[in-house]
Amino acid sequence: MMIEDKLKEIDTLIRARYSVLYLVTHEEHRIETLMGPLARQLKKKLFTWTATEGLLELNAEVNKNNAQFHDPTEVINFIIKDESSSIFILKDFHIFLEDPHVVRRLRDAEYELKGSLKSIILTAPKLNLPLELQKSVTIIDIPLPDEAELMDLLSTMAMTVSKSNPGVVQLKKSEARELARAARGLTLSEAENAFSKAIVSDRVLNASDIHLVLEEKRQIIRKSGVLEYYPSDGALSDVGGLNQLKEWLNIRAQAFLPEAQEYGLPAPKGVLLLGAPGCGKSLTAKVIGNVWKMPLLKLDFGSIFSGLVGSSEENMRQALKTAESVAPVVLWIDEIEKGLSGSSSGQSDSGTSTRVFGTFLTWMQEKKSQVFVIATANQIQQLPPELLRRGRFDEIFFLDLPSEEEREDIFKVHLRKRNIDFSKWDLGSLVEKSIEFSGAEIEHSIVEAMYSSFYGKRPFELKDIEVAMSNIVPLSTTYKENLEDLRSWAKNRARLAHTPKSLNLQKKSRATKIEI
Ligand code: ATP
Repeated sequence: MMIEDKLKEIDTLIRARYSVLYLVTHEEHRIETLMGPLARQLKKKLFTWTATEGLLELNAEVNKNNAQFHDPTEVINFIIKDESSSIFILKDFHIFLEDPHVVRRLRDAEYELKGSLKSIILTAPKLNLPLELQKSVTIIDIPLPDEAELMDLLSTMAMTVSKSNPGVVQLKKSEARELARAARGLTLSEAENAFSKAIVSDRVLNASDIHLVLEEKRQIIRKSGVLEYYPSDGALSDVGGLNQLKEWLNIRAQAFLPEAQEYGLPAPKGVLLLGAPGCGKSLTAKVIGNVWKMPLLKLDFGSIFSGLVGSSEENMRQALKTAESVAPVVLWIDEIEKGLSGSSSGQSDSGTSTRVFGTFLTWMQEKKSQVFVIATANQIQQLPPELLRRGRFDEIFFLDLPSEEEREDIFKVHLRKRNIDFSKWDLGSLVEKSIEFSGAEIEHSIVEAMYSSFYGKRPFELKDIEVAMSNIVPLSTTYKENLEDLRSWAKNRARLAHTPKSLNLQKKSRATKIEI
């Protein structure tokens, strides 16, 4: 939702005489700026309050209440008694909602102000609402600035700078738009700082500053502690086999085109990749950002629950909000089961994981934004059934061990990557000897072989890989039961990432092994 829609919502609520709104945002200054015209339109006075400054009437010639009511209960008492038609923005109020007196008084205010011409707007960077207030307060999540708002900021800055230093801003309209797009995910003041830094660094603001803005954004997103900008490179051809999955991804990619949106295609929700370790789940996630030319954000479920960076639910809400503001984006959740284990019982951690999971599920269900979730999992038992229901992910893919054909493909991918000339090799023998190997194990055998040939000062040969392979006990041996469970679960519930043709070969290759 864009900021205009949120302002419309606030306007409607104020007209409908809702007494207390809670705006979740880091950007109190932006809210103040946006509320000015709204208050004028509604013919209301606009007040702001902070614990340090007290109550101030904005744009008033004389501030008769200036520096009064530093105490939160006092300011609420004043608001209840005041007879004007006003909007009161109380900043950072979440801090005071720990105090039972403040909570009680705010509850009274909600009742007393009903039907009056006064509204209280609480602003806070996070949602912290005690149970007593949950029914009395309307919560509004303020989105981060969109491209248009950032473009306005950039134009204003460019105009100001150009007046005193002509020639500093060297941007075509399309480049300015790209710069504004690069700043998505930042607050207005963070974007202002990023643009200023770009100007100060070499006294010019031009198209090459995009990487500075992106770097600034990376730093800021990293500070959130939950999301990480993940470098995405490679092509789908770097993923050996998995042709059904790759084809599905190619079809889904089209849905992000403007023409597809005009056609009425909904934004894809995402995909769950389920399968044995080392079979290319993370690899697919890593390349897809690059292939689709979208940033790749990795969500670390572990740090959502770590308690180091605020409450778990709030961390989840913030992470999803940030991802939405950067959209179109690929949001990668690695080993989702680790973050969700315990959510079905809800007992191990007083229900925190259930609530965090609930926040995520609701978001997945209602999501309209262009955030494509790519979640990976190894263990089916730990995944709550609600996650697997239709409407959450567009598709669930099962990644089995690579088939004969796919193993050959994977060998080629990794040999090529290391500039090894295999044109004269009989890859059939490697394929034969790597039955039940995962992609990761195939890669590992090539690397091991390179080590020993380098150590022995010999040219690299196929034989080196065969020796390396004979020393590897494939994980499928120790992971056998889990893999069987996964296979039987996936049989009627998930789509195979491999082509049916390669599946047949897979069966054949297993049979071959038994015969041996
Ligand atoms: P885990 O569940 O353990 O994270 P995963 O399925 O996500 O396993 P990846 O991280 O994708 O496994 O694989 C590890 C490495 O193995 C990859 O970086 C890649 O080099 C290699 N690999 C695995 N599968 C393939 C494949 N199909 N094609 C090419 N390389 C592969």
